[in-house]
Amino acid sequence: MRIFIAGHNGMVGSAILRHLSTMGRHELITAGRQQLDLTDPRAVLDFMYARRPDAVVLAAARVGGILANSTYPADFIHDNLMIAANVIHAAHATGVRRLLQLGSSCIYPRDAAQPINEDALLTGPLEPSNEPYAIAKIAAIKLCESYNRQHGTDYRSVMPTNLYGPGDNFHPENAHVLPGLLARFHAAARSGANTVTIWGSGTPRREFLHVDDLAAAAVFVMGLESAAYNAATKPMQSHLNIGWGTDISILDLARMIADITGFEGQIICDRTKPDGTPRKVLDTGRMQRLGWTPKISLQLGLRATYDWFLLQQQAGHALRSS
Ligand code: GDP
Repeated sequence: MRIFIAGHNGMVGSAILRHLSTMGRHELITAGRQQLDLTDPRAVLDFMYARRPDAVVLAAARVGGILANSTYPADFIHDNLMIAANVIHAAHATGVRRLLQLGSSCIYPRDAAQPINEDALLTGPLEPSNEPYAIAKIAAIKLCESYNRQHGTDYRSVMPTNLYGPGDNFHPENAHVLPGLLARFHAAARSGANTVTIWGSGTPRREFLHVDDLAAAAVFVMGLESAAYNAATKPMQSHLNIGWGTDISILDLARMIADITGFEGQIICDRTKPDGTPRKVLDTGRMQRLGWTPKISLQLGLRATYDWFLLQQQAGHALRSS
């Protein structure tokens, strides 16, 4: 198959590219940002007509943390709506039968019952801080469903839990908790600091999935027979959650990261910083029943991610001193 991976430079797209390249069975099509502006309908259509993929993985998105989401809400809703509409429409226009769209667990209502089942979609108000992004991702699910209903396509969606791994954003302040803490504990261990401060009470619980597990899940879902996907996603052929279905407290995560980075000092909880939602974990029963479960334990995944982070640091250091 000729597979177009939209967004192959991002954390998710690059993991899917690695996974599919290792399989060696498919011809992979990619286009960098300079080559193809996914928010431009004409450009996307022309590209798809020229390259004629058999299948599409839609891993492109404008993403960011809470700060970026609240500073650039127009960019987040506009760019993500355009990318989804352009790629999904162009896929249909050029006869692509199968497409996989990647979303995020922020599509679910803020107060959804935990663990969050796929059916919780559109049952309540969203978390306001990233609502524009979430609305665009919900629209992408509905685009797939609607093209399937009207045009008989086979476009699918998966919603991963919090992801981490190579290619993540390790900014000490702006990053999500896992890469942010890896960077902070690393700096503390190197400088011999006695304390590291984590935000909030340490009691919120989160679920973390290594991006290579997500890549494996994405390829698994792409390869499912239509009947299997449709039966698993009844009644709307909507989407599947991807994750472990289990969570860990932020303090326990911090202790694991302290261990991996060699930090031996004290961990302090800054309770003046927000905890956010107390718990966020996905119900992953549908994927389990289809026969897929993740493989990379948090312990192994953290170590691998830390190794990658260290390599990047060394490369950056070499670059700066050359
Ligand atoms: P969320 O899952 O959308 O709440 O996003 P985050 O990954 O930013 O935060 C998850 C939890 O980790 C929240 O309870 C934060 O208060 C807590 N946390 C603790 N230390 C940090 C940190 O250094 N950075 C971030 N982003 N969150 C932290």
